[in-house]
Amino acid sequence: MKKSEVLQAWARILAGRAPSLSIEITKECPLRCPGCYAFDAAHLGGSVQLRELSDFKGDVLVSRVLGLIDEHKPLHVSLVGGDPLVRYREVEALLPEIEKRGVYTQVVTSAFREIPRAWRRFKKLNVVVSVDGLQAEHDARRKPATYERILKNIRDARVTIHCTITAQIVARCGYLDEFLAFWTAQAEVDQVWFSLFTPQVGAVDPEILTVAQRTQVIAELQELRIKYAKLEMPDSLIEEIASPPSSPADCIFARTTTTISADLTTRITPCSLAASRTASSAAA
Ligand code: SF4
Repeated sequence: MKKSEVLQAWARILAGRAPSLSIEITKECPLRCPGCYAFDAAHLGGSVQLRELSDFKGDVLVSRVLGLIDEHKPLHVSLVGGDPLVRYREVEALLPEIEKRGVYTQVVTSAFREIPRAWRRFKKLNVVVSVDGLQAEHDARRKPATYERILKNIRDARVTIHCTITAQIVARCGYLDEFLAFWTAQAEVDQVWFSLFTPQVGAVDPEILTVAQRTQVIAELQELRIKYAKLEMPDSLIEEIASPPSSPADCIFARTTTTISADLTTRITPCSLAASRTASSAAA
């Protein structure tokens, strides 16, 4: 982001408007990952579930999503789901229109289908592929979007790999190093992102990191980002992970992002992560 865009973002925050807009453009996903937050009963607050919402297809979806973007005027839009590539044709129609508006776009997918090489022409697009650890663990959770399928589907594309670190991952010595060695060696991978499993207050999931594990991860990430240039973990982000906010009111993501679900009306508050139990895998 340029300096002028950072200033623009702050101006929007100070004016009470979020610079980032996240839209669940579909409720559909071909996968059934255990612990997916999008399909968690509490994702939309508990009274209604994602699969019960009416979503849109075709030109109606495209024009309504563009309508939201024109209304909110964000600097950054995330197209999520479900899996947004279920609405592949609509995403193809949306990307040039969003870029024309000067807005950055992030498409978050499991890469269950091909990421077109032609998308490399979009200067403000980031395709984020969710990967749940090394091949054995990932393939067990994410079939049919296996490592083999992802590698085939990202060929000639440009992608960011995102992995959520869980207690199980931290428990195996050298896991993050092995993960980075594999993914940073792929020519199509521009960068790798990690986030830490973040439970709801009172949750007892086996994925939750202990304080000692969190400290260990921070130390490992500080070393690994020197070893792997593609690991995009600036100091400020590592500090944020080391001292996570105690409530959504203090969370930079919740404060800077408006999140809208698949009916293109329902707001997810305080944010998609805080509204439901955060899964070991980001949707998609
Ligand atoms: S985690 Fe993502 S890919 Fe898996 S079921 Fe949820 S939306 Fe689909």
